Amino acid sequence: MEGFRVLTLRYRTNELPPEAFERLKELFEKYRAIASLYFWALQNGKKDVAELALRRAEEELPYYWRLVFDSRSPLYLFNEVKEMPRPRKHVLKLPLVTALHYHSGAYIDEDKSELVVRLGGGQRLELPVPERALKRLKEKESEVTPLKPSKTVRIQWRPERTQMLKVQIVLRVERPRPPRPDPREALLVFIDANSRYGFAVVFAAYDSQYVKVYETPKFRPPSRGKRMRESAKRKSAASHGVKTNINFALARLTEEFDSRGWVEATIAQILKKALIYAEGRSIWVNFDSPPIHILRGRLRQTLLSARRILENLCRWYGIYATFRCYSSHHCPICEGRLEEHMTRRTRIMRCRCGFADDRDFVPFHRWITSLGLPLPKWPLYSHPRDGQ
Ligand SMILES: [Zn+2]
Repeated sequence: MEGFRVLTLRYRTNELPPEAFERLKELFEKYRAIASLYFWALQNGKKDVAELALRRAEEELPYYWRLVFDSRSPLYLFNEVKEMPRPRKHVLKLPLVTALHYHSGAYIDEDKSELVVRLGGGQRLELPVPERALKRLKEKESEVTPLKPSKTVRIQWRPERTQMLKVQIVLRVERPRPPRPDPREALLVFIDANSRYGFAVVFAAYDSQYVKVYETPKFRPPSRGKRMRESAKRKSAASHGVKTNINFALARLTEEFDSRGWVEATIAQILKKALIYAEGRSIWVNFDSPPIHILRGRLRQTLLSARRILENLCRWYGIYATFRCYSSHHCPICEGRLEEHMTRRTRIMRCRCGFADDRDFVPFHRWITSLGLPLPKWPLYSHPRDGQ
């Protein structure tokens, strides 16, 4: 099983050294022509054309740019060509190695905080990497110690968006699939993605006779209105000449806020917290969202991407994950229909048998019952929360 993390860097092309950028563009054009020739040749079973493409690659591309055509390389890009209706967006991948092996396609020069991309014929493109990004890269690497992630660099440049060059450093780690943990021994994490685009999370574990709840945080994405106001402020400062570049960049970032970025950061935060509470125990995460097939539009996309992000991060950290959906309308004790009561801040679900809890946490109770565990001693809505 393979998990990955990505660090994305963006550069304005007019700030790059013009000669090196021209050379990069030239390589891109050659690479694209050869890659599409190769792709369609494979898809149509034309062996002779595929060989022609490989010969052209040999003549026109530096050797470390050709690994994507080498079926024995981990960078090989054409694995599932038959199942791909269109070529994937990945345009280019280069191997990234440490300075010790700096003869490869790209490497990080830590002394200069630079990512050096080799362009063949002794030419190189030097891209400054902010110290913060280097630090984050190291943090991500250390998350999987003692495993050592492999690193590749992906460079994206699109003729229709000429002003930006996007560079991604991709860390990958391979590990065996974790076995299903014993629910009595594991840290249990329940993520409910049902509450208005946000997540309601429960961290709990079985602790002699009862399930003990550690924390029940809720996460909500920042509202669009708030982001737009923030961005307008930045733009106005920039147009008055105050730190123009920084303010324009921040305004763009604020506007471009995509739910995906928020979802990824939030899920990573949840899993990091789980690792702390687990104190070395195994972890079982259940992600509960409405059945995808009944959803439409944005919400469907958000939840689908949340599920993929969680799957990937669990593979990265080696965490056992399930994706079962539990009802918030039926009592976890007697299966009776729950009745909803609104309080000032919460929707409380009550049963005739005496069960009552915040609606967002009912699915958690049902999960706990299905694992054969006793319920927590107290309802979660009155449970003291961290820092509150
Ligand atoms: Zn009941």
